Amino acid sequence: MTDTADQLSHALAHPAAALREPSLGSRLDPWVKSYAQRTAGMTTSEIRALFSVASRPEVVSLAGGMPYLSALPMDTVAATVAQMLATQGLTALQYGSGQGDPTLREQILEVMALEGISAHADDVMVTTGSQQALDLVTRIFIDPGDVVLAEAPSYVGALGVFASYQAEVAHVASDNDGLVPHALEERIRGLLASGKRIKFLYTVPNFHNPAGTTLSPQRRPQILEICQRHGILVLEDNPYGLLGFDGEPPAAMRSLSEDGVVYLGTFSKTFAPGLRVGWALAPHAVREKLVLANESAILCPSAYAQMTVSAYLATCDWKAQIKVYRELYRERRDAMIESLSARLPQASWTHPEGGFYVWLTLPEGLNAKAMLPRALTERVAYVPGTAFFADGTGHRNVRLSYCYPDPDRIREGVRRFAGVVQSELELLETFGPYDVTTGRAVRSRGVQSPAVDLS
Ligand code: PMP
Repeated sequence: MTDTADQLSHALAHPAAALREPSLGSRLDPWVKSYAQRTAGMTTSEIRALFSVASRPEVVSLAGGMPYLSALPMDTVAATVAQMLATQGLTALQYGSGQGDPTLREQILEVMALEGISAHADDVMVTTGSQQALDLVTRIFIDPGDVVLAEAPSYVGALGVFASYQAEVAHVASDNDGLVPHALEERIRGLLASGKRIKFLYTVPNFHNPAGTTLSPQRRPQILEICQRHGILVLEDNPYGLLGFDGEPPAAMRSLSEDGVVYLGTFSKTFAPGLRVGWALAPHAVREKLVLANESAILCPSAYAQMTVSAYLATCDWKAQIKVYRELYRERRDAMIESLSARLPQASWTHPEGGFYVWLTLPEGLNAKAMLPRALTERVAYVPGTAFFADGTGHRNVRLSYCYPDPDRIREGVRRFAGVVQSELELLETFGPYDVTTGRAVRSRGVQSPAVDLS
């Protein structure tokens, strides 16, 4: 084994255990009894634990969701920032408004107009990435035990926020056309019958993270109608809507309902995530509460970051840049789908029409989390499906992202991944399936399985 493989396999022999076991720091933590109950839901995300290994150059990472920033015209961006600071530095480096820069809020209206949204700048609030908007919306609506409806699977970062406010997440089935309306209706009825308080539906309708699917135009009004009838707010999270590979961007759910939807947007995927600029568009009264929550959390979003985005939108051809990103990601999506088709006929996967992710279902009997140490030893990383469910399901699922590696690396990553799946299938043939509760191979054929600790 090479040094790298050795180190990787050593570091990752027990990744699941490492995730669950408290670190030395927390075992020695004298304050353990003092933490608020809500911290119980704050556990290391599987993706974060992967990052240190997945970012090694010898590993093909199909795990992260990092935009391919090398496609940005960095000289132009640098000149724009320099000019902005030279002319408006005193404002950019000062505190600003809790709701966000008025000029940027006007410009955000132009961005949202591409998805059919018409709104007033007064109903837009700028946040530190849409991640913070998720936090603020959850903060103002959720008491411990309240229910958040969410697609199965759901964005892991949102599940983390919901857990930190002690929400109960109730998953709703989704298929290749997104969230299933009749499943939503049934879920709501069941929850209401058992006395639960449902606060909002969290949904990523376009180019879903992690599912790679898009909610069909027919289902959008149906879902809005169901939620409206039951008095449930829709939280529409839309980071990828402008990154479709064909045709016009899908019309946002917010374009169909002004009062029933809080819409979240971000410049992370269409420009750059390092600036941490996102926004929420909310019905007026909700927006007022959100601004109060924002002020108490951070006083105000960074004026510097907002003015950088604002100057970029005003002086650079941002629509052309989005086109560059779309073409680049389309080529990578194609590379991934083509190599999956060529190398993994035993699995099935979604066919994204935009965004960053393919959602793969492994053959029966395989366990994506259990397989991860072997994959890392073979120098390919992915995120196991269990990260995207609040209820511990998703063992056979894998999220593969194609946004960052170039097409050749993607093909190589899929080659390695397919090799791992193939050898897992051979193990399965010899030793029988994993027992997902103990994480150990079940000795179904009287053969002693290797000691694989998957706890
Ligand atoms: N929502 C979804 C669905 C995402 O995929 C992400 C980023 N991965 C976010 C929200 C957060 O993005 P940001 O905070 O960078 O705007």
